Amino acid sequence: MDIGIIGAGIAGLSAAIALRRIGHNVTIFEKSCFKNEIGAAITLTPNANRILERWNFDFEKARPVDFMQYRYLHSETLEVCGREDLSGVQERYGSRMCAYHRVDLHEGLRVLAEGEWGVGIRLGCAAVGVDADKGEVEFINGEKVKKDMWIMADGCHTPFLPQILKESIPTTHIGKSVYRWLSPLSLIRTNPQCAQIWDPSLPSGFVTFFNPRTAIMMVTYPCRNSTLLNCALFHTTRPEESNAEGWHSNSTHDHVLRELDGASAAVKHLVLQAEQIKVYKVTQRRPSTKCYGGNVLCIGDTVHYMLPSHAQGGAMAVEDAGALEILFDPKTYTHSPAALSKRLSTFEKLRLPRTATTQIMSSLNPNLTMEGLERQVGDIRRFYAGELVDWPRGCGPWSEAIREFW
Ligand SMILES: Cc1cc2nc3c(=O)[nH]c(=O)nc-3n(C[C@H](O)[C@H](O)[C@H](O)COP(=O)(O)OP(=O)(O)OC[C@H]3O[C@@H](n4cnc5c(N)ncnc54)[C@H](O)[C@@H]3O)c2cc1C
Repeated sequence: MDIGIIGAGIAGLSAAIALRRIGHNVTIFEKSCFKNEIGAAITLTPNANRILERWNFDFEKARPVDFMQYRYLHSETLEVCGREDLSGVQERYGSRMCAYHRVDLHEGLRVLAEGEWGVGIRLGCAAVGVDADKGEVEFINGEKVKKDMWIMADGCHTPFLPQILKESIPTTHIGKSVYRWLSPLSLIRTNPQCAQIWDPSLPSGFVTFFNPRTAIMMVTYPCRNSTLLNCALFHTTRPEESNAEGWHSNSTHDHVLRELDGASAAVKHLVLQAEQIKVYKVTQRRPSTKCYGGNVLCIGDTVHYMLPSHAQGGAMAVEDAGALEILFDPKTYTHSPAALSKRLSTFEKLRLPRTATTQIMSSLNPNLTMEGLERQVGDIRRFYAGELVDWPRGCGPWSEAIREFW
């Protein structure tokens, strides 16, 4: 098949690799020029890393940090209030749970797509219109392109779902934002308490600072061979930052420190080592009931945008690509418009129950939103009839219940 992909994020690059591996012609159309590098980390769980392993992804070059434990520390006293052992993850789930610098993961996927599989990426090509019935995409320069199949991987701000899926699901702000930054661990360890918390001889992993009194939740984890610490502080959106859109809005050290009033000096030290603070407004979308229209398939955040509670947004995008590699393998698939329609329907039947359930479960984080638990579980039943995790015990990130589910 001759396949066009809109967007070269995790979803678009992964889909391109998967489809090239089974011999299809693939071109990616990306609106940016890849200069908007995102200074943040991303966790990939074994369900995604298993697929990257199959593709011979260059883990060494991407410098991930494996997670062996999850520690919960009180933000005022630094008392360790809980610990989850993750050392058995690789053995139990067949692959690693680790964190990458986003730039390193993206670069690794891009090298695999372009370098090893010869995928063409056309930069500066913004799609402006999609006609799913004609199988045609229009670009900003007026060019109209037809393909055997289109894959929309243009992310959570996509304007095209009403045209493709004939349904429109609003994206809503949950009233929370995230301050995020990266700090060098060498500087962090100049504080004696931080040096103890991030002692290199301890198993690496998450450290979450929380305080039930102030509802503070600050998630930290190392990336890039443990040279950088990724920090994300969830908080109620400040009125003056309510217009922050996307990943690149700036905030200030003072704003973060104000949220951390009463926190230990060690926690504040993490903020002071940051070169730059970004603020991100947390939004979510309820699941779509479809994922394709005509010859256009939607994957990744385009169609299953979710809260970051369980670190599954990127992982689900990689899984989408893994499913494409199986369903469009020429050993079992011969292209015709009718065959394509049938396979897209199979993709939807296989993927939607899992992605929709993950989307809904990601919105059930006790520290973000636990509203309407019963309604949400009822909602899951619209998509998925299988066994569910034990609520609300299974809502916490990385609990054994949630790991078993994924
Ligand atoms: C705070 C936060 C933390 C997260 N942490 C994790 C985590 O730890 N683990 C995890 O798995 N997930 C995590 N996620 C989710 C994860 O980041 C996303 O699910 C993932 O990046 C989605 O990838 P994507 O390719 O679908 O979309 P995107 O990364 O948004 O890529 C879309 C691409 O399409 C391009 N594009 C957009 N419009 C057009 C157009 N009109 N024409 C052409 N190109 C276009 C864009 O420039 C971009 O390159 C987190 C998300 C947030 C917000």
